[in-house]
Amino acid sequence: MSILNADLHCHSVVSDGTLTPEQLAERAAANGVELWSLTDHDEIGGQHRAAAAARAHGMRYLTGTEISVTFSAETVHIVGLGFDPDSALLRRGLSDTRGGRRERAQEMADQLAAVGIPGAYEGALKHVGNPELISRTHFARFLVEAGVCRDTSEVFRKYLTEGNPGYVPHRWASLKAAVQWITGAGGLAVIAHPARYKFTANEEFALFSEFKTHGGFGVEVVTGSHTAAEYVRYADTAREFGLSASRGSDFHSPGESHTDLGQLPGLPGGLTPVWDVLADRIL
Ligand code: AMP
Ligand code: MN
Ligand code: MN
Ligand code: MN
Repeated sequence: MSILNADLHCHSVVSDGTLTPEQLAERAAANGVELWSLTDHDEIGGQHRAAAAARAHGMRYLTGTEISVTFSAETVHIVGLGFDPDSALLRRGLSDTRGGRRERAQEMADQLAAVGIPGAYEGALKHVGNPELISRTHFARFLVEAGVCRDTSEVFRKYLTEGNPGYVPHRWASLKAAVQWITGAGGLAVIAHPARYKFTANEEFALFSEFKTHGGFGVEVVTGSHTAAEYVRYADTAREFGLSASRGSDFHSPGESHTDLGQLPGLPGGLTPVWDVLADRIL
C-alpha cells in the first residue's frame, strides 16, 4: 500500500466545484493531503493559483485537468497530470473543448422549459464561476435550489441524463487528441473513474487498448466514485494493461460530495503510483 496521501482529482469554481482553489488547498491541507492536484473540467485557468496555495500550505503540487472525451458514443473523462500549464497546444485543445457548452446549455434549458421548468439557463448561470464552463452540475444546483429535486443525485436520476429531460448529446474531444494534448505538454494521461462508464466488456477493452496506443499512462484505481470492489477490479486492469495507478477524491463541494479531499484508502499493493513516475514534475 502506498502511504503518501495524494489527492489528484478535484474541482474548483473554475469548473463545477463550489470552492476557490485557495479554499480547496486549505481544506486539502487540513485533511492531511501531502500531494495535491486541482483537475478542473476542460480548464487550467486555476493552476497557478492552486500551485501557489499548495505551497502556502506546505503541500506538494502536480498540475491537473480533466478532459471531456467522446469514445464509443459515451462521455469518458481523461485526467492530465504534471503538464506545462503554459503549453499552447494544451490551452488551444481545452479552449476548443469548452466551445459549444453555452449552446448545449441553452438546449438543455429549452428541454427543461418544455417539461414545465422555466428559467433554467439563467438559474444555472447564477451558479457558474467561469462563463466558459457552464456544466450539468450548475443545472443540477439550480434544480435543487428551485425545489424540483431534493439533491443533485436525484437530479441526475431524473434529469440531464440519457433518456431524461435536459439531456443534450454532445461531441467532446477525441481520445487520441486529449492524450496528445496532455503528453505534448509534458504530462501523463490517466483514465478517470473507469467504473462509471456504461461500457460492455469489449468497449472497455477497446478504451484501455486505444488509450495505451495513443500514449496513455495511468488509470484511477482509488477514486471517490469507486466502490471497494471496483478498487480491486481496476487494480487488476492497471496490471493487465501495464498502467500506473492514480488516487483522487473527485471532490466538488462540501454539501454534495460524499468523499472529502484526502479521505480515501491507499492504493492496493503491486501498483506503480502515477506520482512515482511524475516525481520530477512535482512542484
Ligand atoms: P458536463 O461536463 O456538463 O456533462 O457535466 C458533468 C458533471 O456532472 C460531472 O463532472 C459531475 O460533476 C456531474 N455529474 C454527472 N453525473 C452525475 C451523477 N450521477 N451524480 C452527481 N453528479 C454527476
Ligand atoms: Mn464535475
Ligand atoms: Mn469525471
Ligand atoms: Mn471530476
